[in-house]
Amino acid sequence: MPGYKLAIDGPAGSGKSTISSLIAKKLGWTHIDTGAMYRAVTLLAIELKIDLHDEASYRFLESAQIHYDFDRIYINDRDVTEAIRSESVTQNVSLVSSFPYVRKRLVELQQSAAKNGNIVMDGRDIGTVVLPNADLKIFLTANVEERAKRRYKENVKKGKQAQISQVIEDIVIRDQKDSTRKESPLRKASDAVELDTTFLTIEEVVNKIIELTDKKEINHGV
Ligand code: C5P
Repeated sequence: MPGYKLAIDGPAGSGKSTISSLIAKKLGWTHIDTGAMYRAVTLLAIELKIDLHDEASYRFLESAQIHYDFDRIYINDRDVTEAIRSESVTQNVSLVSSFPYVRKRLVELQQSAAKNGNIVMDGRDIGTVVLPNADLKIFLTANVEERAKRRYKENVKKGKQAQISQVIEDIVIRDQKDSTRKESPLRKASDAVELDTTFLTIEEVVNKIIELTDKKEINHGV
């Protein structure tokens, strides 16, 4: 059974993962956070002490198992859900995800994970590359101050210390790298619905997207 495919893209801190996870829970669908997968590769690359700038060193991906399941991410069955949020991973993930070889491996995994069932997949290139035929594509945005505020609050909750100015700088740098890279840059698919979440609550965004999935189902005559 192929199922419904919902693609959610957007810049850092736009709320993609939180919102995708809530939609999946509400609808009983499967959520796949592709950012977590790029973070897992980055963590493993750091642990293996490879030269992060050398694309050929990422061949270790041929044998590594990366698996996302119920909002937890695993490398070879090791749960790395918390470890992938470290400062060193965040600072290097845009570099790691810029390599065509890394992207090819992860896109294959993502497409195969999305093959069956109802899927909510979030990332940067889901509507453009991973699921170009998705039933509904959403592009989430919010102004950078709001995105930084959300990230800052998350950090404080997790007991991490950071200046808000530092969080803004990190987000701006990561967005710049992600949207200017050659391979699958962050961009809105031409048929995506853009949703500015700056003045919306999480609940409002979730409900709005669920409303849109209902409409799309009607449009498709399903
Ligand atoms: O979603 P999150 O901010 O955790 O993603 C971490 C990084 O992974 C992004 O900054 C981007 O470099 C990379 N990424 C990507 N393509 C995706 C998802 C994430 O390049 N589909």
